[in-house]
Amino acid sequence: MTHALLTKLGLDNHPRVITDVRGDETPEKDNVILSMNPATGKPIAGVTLDSKEDYERITAQAAEAFKEFRKIPAPKRGELVRRIGNAYRDVLEELGSLETLEMGKIKAEGIGEVQETIDIADFAVGQSRQLWGKTMPSERPEHAMKEQWLPLGPVGIITAFNFPNAVWGWNAMLAAVCGDTCVWKPSLMAPLTCIATNEIAQRVASEMGYENIFQYVIGTDDIVGESMINDKRYPLISATGSCRMGRHVGATVAKRLGKCLLELGGNNAVIITEDANLDLALKSTVFGSVGTAGQRCTTSRRLIIHESIADDFCDKLVKAYETVKIGDPLEDGVLMGPLINEQSVQAYEHAVKSAKEQGATVLTGGERITDMPGELAGGHFVKPTIIRVPSSNELPIAMEETFAPILYVFTFKTLEEAIDMQNSVDQGLSSAIFTGASNSAQRFLDPSGAGSDCGLAYVNLGTSGAEIGGAFGGEKDTGGGRESGSDAWKAYMRRQTCTIGFGDTLALAQGIKFE
Ligand code: NAD
Repeated sequence: MTHALLTKLGLDNHPRVITDVRGDETPEKDNVILSMNPATGKPIAGVTLDSKEDYERITAQAAEAFKEFRKIPAPKRGELVRRIGNAYRDVLEELGSLETLEMGKIKAEGIGEVQETIDIADFAVGQSRQLWGKTMPSERPEHAMKEQWLPLGPVGIITAFNFPNAVWGWNAMLAAVCGDTCVWKPSLMAPLTCIATNEIAQRVASEMGYENIFQYVIGTDDIVGESMINDKRYPLISATGSCRMGRHVGATVAKRLGKCLLELGGNNAVIITEDANLDLALKSTVFGSVGTAGQRCTTSRRLIIHESIADDFCDKLVKAYETVKIGDPLEDGVLMGPLINEQSVQAYEHAVKSAKEQGATVLTGGERITDMPGELAGGHFVKPTIIRVPSSNELPIAMEETFAPILYVFTFKTLEEAIDMQNSVDQGLSSAIFTGASNSAQRFLDPSGAGSDCGLAYVNLGTSGAEIGGAFGGEKDTGGGRESGSDAWKAYMRRQTCTIGFGDTLALAQGIKFE
């Protein structure tokens, strides 16, 4: 299976990929990183790391290629992106399966993620004919004013392990129609998905005669990551990952007065009012909290439920959790795969222990799974967990993002209290309300800003599962970036205001006379 997949995606004979790795015997050399299968704990393949010199070469190539690529008419760049989307359609299942193998999300979610890249490619094709500027009236006679949007330069794209294909797609497909070249620095936990994804895009670009439009640099944060964020040749760094990483990357890029697009952690809540459709709320909450084993930035981490329905709902939720099939994420019918690595399992255990010490009760789960069969015994599996918060509604550990399937249950009496609770964390990514009352829904979306303080707000839908088209991103410690839809394209271009005089008389603004 693994070999056939690597062959189909052109990774078996790839100069960067070492497929001859055997279990624990394969030594990790200085310049090789092992891509591990989190479901078995065994290596899939080795990948050679880029050095500082490789980084310099790749960045110089991206800067050089930009000078020509920006001259290609935008709709023609759209044609490139259209062909790339089609190339991904041809390997949708294989690329989705590679993701599953490398980061452990179930196959349906792996395929869904590649579909997101295809969707943003389609969106970007249309966008390539709509990079619109405005015209505005000049206060001076015989003058015209307009804004135009120009290509920006090479874009540095830093991605997290949990969306190893689509986060790049959201950035790269829009950046390409805007006339930018892309250099991708993936997570070292998902290098194979990066190589396979990028090779397809660049192959299509080369077929159209465009070299070095899509490149990647795979290396350590201290050598490659630091070089990229400090490098003025990247006018824009788009970074997705933890708040800790974003604070550092944001400050570093700001110091050189570069632009940053930050997509960071979330601590997302679902509010359920007493008049909600509880069936719908139950199904959505299970998907939102257990999907991708709780390793989505938009995972539902807190449930804020009206006190009158909390006990019943928790009983149903516990029953639903206990039917979730955990296992090999490539197998049909499995709903939850492993966590990415041993550190994540330890972070999960630490959160459960802290919650208990802080007075909470574990309703289900709360421990790693030690009896997985066969090869899966080496995987990083944990039980999806529901934790009931004490009646004081205070639980410090629930204010943090633990990247694991843990759902904390809070209760409320009034909607105002529920919205305050939902807004009380540092992050501001995704939020949801289930309610049958249109007034409650509208209060959650209050146009004065007094409702949800998140970048994403859903009514009668869970916190995860965003679609292409709307701008995606969050406020507060989530970083403020917006990607993948609406006017997100503007981040990848620079704006120029142009004023053109077409008369023979000098006219100064503000009526100034200078004669
Ligand atoms: P992480 O912060 O550990 O790493 C993310 C990326 O940043 C990796 O590529 C890493 O190598 C890079 N990085 C770290 N230090 C760097 C440095 N000094 N210079 C340059 N690059 C550096 O995050 P992770 O564990 O891979 O992913 C999980 C986190 O990502 C969670 O917090 C999750 O919420 C967040 N996330 C957010 C979104 C979003 O759209 N808001 C999407 C996916 C994941």
